[in-house]
Amino acid sequence: MKGRIDHIGLWTWGGRVYNWQRYLDHMRASGMDTVVLWHGRVPADAREMKAYAAAQGIRVLWGFNWSWNSPVCLDSAEDARHWTDTVLGILRDEYAPLDPDGICFQVGGTEFGGKCRRDCPVCAKAARDGVGPLFLKFAGAIIAAVRREFPDLYLSAGVHLGGVHRSFEALRSLDASVNIMWEDLPGPQRHIESPFAYDWDDPDAALTPQTVEMVEAMCALRGPQEDVAFVVKGFPCRWGGDDPMLLEEFDLEALAAVYQSTWDKANVYCETHLPEALTVFRAIANAPARRKTVVLLVEHGLWELRREYAAVLVAEALRDPFREPDEIIAATRDRMSKAPA
Ligand SMILES: [Zn+2]
Repeated sequence: MKGRIDHIGLWTWGGRVYNWQRYLDHMRASGMDTVVLWHGRVPADAREMKAYAAAQGIRVLWGFNWSWNSPVCLDSAEDARHWTDTVLGILRDEYAPLDPDGICFQVGGTEFGGKCRRDCPVCAKAARDGVGPLFLKFAGAIIAAVRREFPDLYLSAGVHLGGVHRSFEALRSLDASVNIMWEDLPGPQRHIESPFAYDWDDPDAALTPQTVEMVEAMCALRGPQEDVAFVVKGFPCRWGGDDPMLLEEFDLEALAAVYQSTWDKANVYCETHLPEALTVFRAIANAPARRKTVVLLVEHGLWELRREYAAVLVAEALRDPFREPDEIIAATRDRMSKAPA
């Protein structure tokens, strides 16, 4: 809807959610309605998680690998067939029985440029010119097969702009029913994550007019039917791993103490850069896209232990980005002063 962002939530490694009830409680108390949980295998308690999330008004998008970080050739019909069979098998056996709210995926090549580029001329050229057309060919083949078997399944295609930004407009031809979840917006000088960067206080990570123009183009890529999502960074991020790691409450507290200094930096950083973030969020809210989603990358952030100011602040900014920073900061402090019900 024009003038607002439809869905706000978190992206995380499902295996690093230690207490999903409290995790979801904290999401609801922060005005969030969407969670992306990435797993190696569907978790044993997925059905309970989904039911609990639904009771909180939160949709769960289950993420799993469609060749991300694999030595795949995006130009290879054989690789596309192999991954199509793999994906269909996982959907049939693990996710379809859950009646999922949606599935998120990533394919190889958009984040790391594709290992194949070293000895494959097609992938080498794509690494230079942009992976967009090859992404469309490879992911498009898998999506088409999934669509035939699961016509109503909501799909979200995760795309890292590191490999795609020179050819991102190729994704205009992607099946318009598929959400595109963009990560890592590039600036003119270097690879940045906008509006917030992994590398806090990097002076080169400033927001540029080109980045805002690109956000606007992404929001209108497939015309008014565009279903677009962005992954906002700038929070404590750690590779979480796919497999569950179960800890006692005592260990959680100890781990949180280790992470606290990182959150402390994020809390200052996000408030300092709030005006820049609002510029991007207003561009997204104003876009005429059919559906707009923004999720915060809080991977292994111990969100179930406590809600951290930086993430609550950004979620509050997304809820209505047309307010002034002072008003958003006050609303965030008010929200944090109330214990989750
Ligand atoms: Zn190749």
